[in-house]
Amino acid sequence: MVKLMQVYEGKAKKVISLDEGKVIMEFKDDVTAFDGGKKAQFRGKGWLNAQISAHLFRVLEEKGIKTHFIGVAGENRLIVERLRMYPLEVVVRNVVAGSLKRRLPLEEGTELPEPIVELYYKDDSLHDPMINRYHAKILGVSEAELGEIERIALNVNEILREYFRGRGIILVDFKLEFGKNERGEIVLGDEISPDTCRFWDAETKKSLDKDVFRFDKGDLINAYEELYTRLTG
Ligand code: 5GP
Repeated sequence: MVKLMQVYEGKAKKVISLDEGKVIMEFKDDVTAFDGGKKAQFRGKGWLNAQISAHLFRVLEEKGIKTHFIGVAGENRLIVERLRMYPLEVVVRNVVAGSLKRRLPLEEGTELPEPIVELYYKDDSLHDPMINRYHAKILGVSEAELGEIERIALNVNEILREYFRGRGIILVDFKLEFGKNERGEIVLGDEISPDTCRFWDAETKKSLDKDVFRFDKGDLINAYEELYTRLTG
């Protein structure tokens, strides 16, 4: 019998530990924004994020990216490999949006001449501050590991940017998380979903992501469903 043991409940996911180095990630219908300052629930969001993440992990695996994805385990659950996570959020940007507007004197929607990679320390109590390579080293991430993480992040960006371009969608920016598996390999973890990425329709620049909720731009489920259909349909 497989032993189930809940190990962690986050804002939008539950992580349940299984035997044999496997973990279930359960996607919740809850959504939060602005450091937890804005909260809601949308029926069906967990299912959509689980399916979209599974789809994108498969796309990446086919292109040779190592991810923690093993399979779909029901409506809103994925089975993934257990990783020892780095305490980092790695953001990749192709187009100016979100917090970048507060850092650089550039207009929203400006295409960047080359992708930008940013590092954040994943810690709610410190509000996920932006950090640099020196800080990362103090946090226990070696230069070699960071180099590998950035290389994979940029590779993921190339693959997904092209994939979305083919579907009339601009990959504006996204956040990735990485961990080490039992074999000591650096592997892409967490999720890749409209909760963690910005997607714009290439024609209309309409958001198909959590900005719909953040900035009251319409119906979140409609936006996520449209994204799902354009990816899979
Ligand atoms: P920004 O820094 O502009 O707020 O976010 C950049 C990108 O990373 C966006 O696609 C955003 O959704 C994602 N991102 C950054 N931090 C987080 C986070 O803590 N949680 C989630 N879900 N996404 C994040």
